Amino acid sequence: MSMSIKLADLAEKLNIPLKELKDKIVELGFELSPRARTVENDVAELVEEELKPKEAGETSEEEAEEADVVNIYDEIIAQEREREIVKSQRKKMAGKDAGRRKDEPRAAAPVFTEGGEIAIPDVITVKEFAEKSGLKIAKIIGELAKNGILGNINQQIDFETAQVVADDLGIKVKRIRSAAQAEDLISGDISNLLKEDDTAALRERPPVIVIMGHVDHGKTKLLDTIRSANVVAKEAGGITQHIGAYQVQKKGKLISFLDTPGHEAFTAMRARGAKVTDIAILVVAADEGVKPQTIEALNHAKEAGVPILVALNKIDKPDANPDKVMGELAEQGLQPEAWGGKTVVVPVSALTGAGIDELLDMILLTAEMENLKANPDREAVGTVIEAHLDHSLGPVATILVNTGTLKIMNNIVVGQTYGRIKLMKDHTGKPLRAAGPSTPVLIAGLSETPKSGDILQVVKDEKTAKEKALEVKLLFEAGEEGKGMNQFLVNLKSDKVLKLVIKADTKGSLEAIKQSISQIKDEEVAIKIIHSGVGTLTKSDIMMASASGGIVIGFHSDFDSPYLAKVAEKEKVEVRKYTVIYNLLEDVKSFLSGLLEPEITEVIIGRAEVKQVFLTKKKEMIIGCKVLSGKMVNKASLRIIRGRTKEDEDNIVGLGRIDSLKKGEETVHEIGEGNDCGIKFVGDIKVEERDILEAFRKEQKSRTIS
Ligand code: GDP
Repeated sequence: MSMSIKLADLAEKLNIPLKELKDKIVELGFELSPRARTVENDVAELVEEELKPKEAGETSEEEAEEADVVNIYDEIIAQEREREIVKSQRKKMAGKDAGRRKDEPRAAAPVFTEGGEIAIPDVITVKEFAEKSGLKIAKIIGELAKNGILGNINQQIDFETAQVVADDLGIKVKRIRSAAQAEDLISGDISNLLKEDDTAALRERPPVIVIMGHVDHGKTKLLDTIRSANVVAKEAGGITQHIGAYQVQKKGKLISFLDTPGHEAFTAMRARGAKVTDIAILVVAADEGVKPQTIEALNHAKEAGVPILVALNKIDKPDANPDKVMGELAEQGLQPEAWGGKTVVVPVSALTGAGIDELLDMILLTAEMENLKANPDREAVGTVIEAHLDHSLGPVATILVNTGTLKIMNNIVVGQTYGRIKLMKDHTGKPLRAAGPSTPVLIAGLSETPKSGDILQVVKDEKTAKEKALEVKLLFEAGEEGKGMNQFLVNLKSDKVLKLVIKADTKGSLEAIKQSISQIKDEEVAIKIIHSGVGTLTKSDIMMASASGGIVIGFHSDFDSPYLAKVAEKEKVEVRKYTVIYNLLEDVKSFLSGLLEPEITEVIIGRAEVKQVFLTKKKEMIIGCKVLSGKMVNKASLRIIRGRTKEDEDNIVGLGRIDSLKKGEETVHEIGEGNDCGIKFVGDIKVEERDILEAFRKEQKSRTIS
């Protein structure tokens, strides 16, 4: 089977000059070396479609798809125009007529979308809401008051509030989908991206399942058995690929499995904040019962808040003892249904296939109760399940589509990297043009290999993709510096839950610690022991703390390998070891009372002199500088120094920030001493030539308790 076609042949087939063909291929976003003589079949196929002469009136499936994309763009353009209109209305209100064009709606007329709705963002002022809806300001304020909100014209209301008011006044509103903030992308928080107000657009989606449990209890075997018995019929000759996830069909419904057994992958993904699984299957071998890793897995699933089904595996074994295992499960809070509890326990044998059908049925039932939905008619959001560098395709990644439909040729940002989808395949190796919610797909076309847990987002063009990826990268790097203990404290402050993973040398001391901790009460912060056990500190303990933003406590318990200190460091997890319970409790208390507030110190990064001011706008300036000492770092805070004071100190005239940093034409993260650079400056004053910019960074230093 040939995988590529000669460029000359393709040109002849398409009846165009070779040069034009090459240009077209590059234009479509594929890499093609000037000396290339062949092109991959996948690419050829796309080029052919692109260049195929179209007959009038003929609309292909692809065109319909393109129309879809066009619609999205139209929507964006419409929003843009709307913003312009609102702006011009505001100007008018200020007495300056912006000169209305004929085709613009009248100033006071509401701004409707095609669906007859008013599109508004996450947050809007009363005034803007009035402008958009055509409602009187007084009426809105009155309606707000009815709902217990006292507001004035500049009051900001969130979308949900606007929706309530609009509902009461008989107007339909629709949220303008905000692009993901780089911060969200870094933390893997896709909740903003997934927000969907148009419930009518939501469709049922397949559940995403992860299989967890103790080593050797049969996770891999179970995944294999399910796959081989139920996988969706594959193309003749296609070879099933292990791409880290697959889908099976049961009773006409799809179920997606993450094929990365063990909870390591799950934890890694959780550590990056991405929540992709809907249901966890806890595999427990009927002959061995609940083991330490079973409990760990269970705690992971609980922490993640996903429903748990138990697969009681290896029931074919002569020494299988389901009753005993059920007792152990009950002890862990998983009271089996058969015993009047709520936990579904399905006896199975991954070896013989017994019980697998029932397991799948129970998955579907649980999924139904979870009411899993997504909107397939929007640009896709996805999560990287795994990724690697392929020797022929370059960086490839398995993506689980969370919502929307991912399409071939989409421009995407994935974590800190970007690209265009040049190839998309399912787990049977079948090429796909589009993939809807909960579908795992393999994609190629990224500039670099992303990390598992990275978020994929479709954006309008390559430029946006590139910019967004860079933004995420810079923010990530900046964030790395201030993580660790500080991050933990930040989490603690926002969640108000102190999460602990505790390991002790004996059962007795562990119980004593747990008991004492349960007696510590704090008004503001709750303590949650997410995992505890007897023995050494393991990698899994660290990963669990990392995933949940907690800390690890060892009582007479040390790392089971010195390399774990490195892991903890890398994961920025605080690990504390104690030999005296009193000290341990004192520390826990100090965390709670916020005694460990970090000290904030300031670090000067460097100084630069302003050589030239290129552009001055209202809030930003473009300036040319020379770095005198240290370095300039993108996004750094700045002090503006203009000469000396009488006391012969630096005369600080204002503050600002580097909004972007350039070396020549290239955007850079930092630039060292002696170099010239271009700075986009934002700040509270106008800088002048010969001003000194002092870049500094605030560093938090956590205080430690001896
Ligand atoms: P994992 O470490 O949880 O992924 O466990 P594996 O899937 O690798 O299984 C460990 C061993 O148990 C392998 O030798 C399997 O063949 C065996 N095994 C798995 N499931 C069953 C089962 O249902 N019955 C029996 N008798 N053996 C099983």
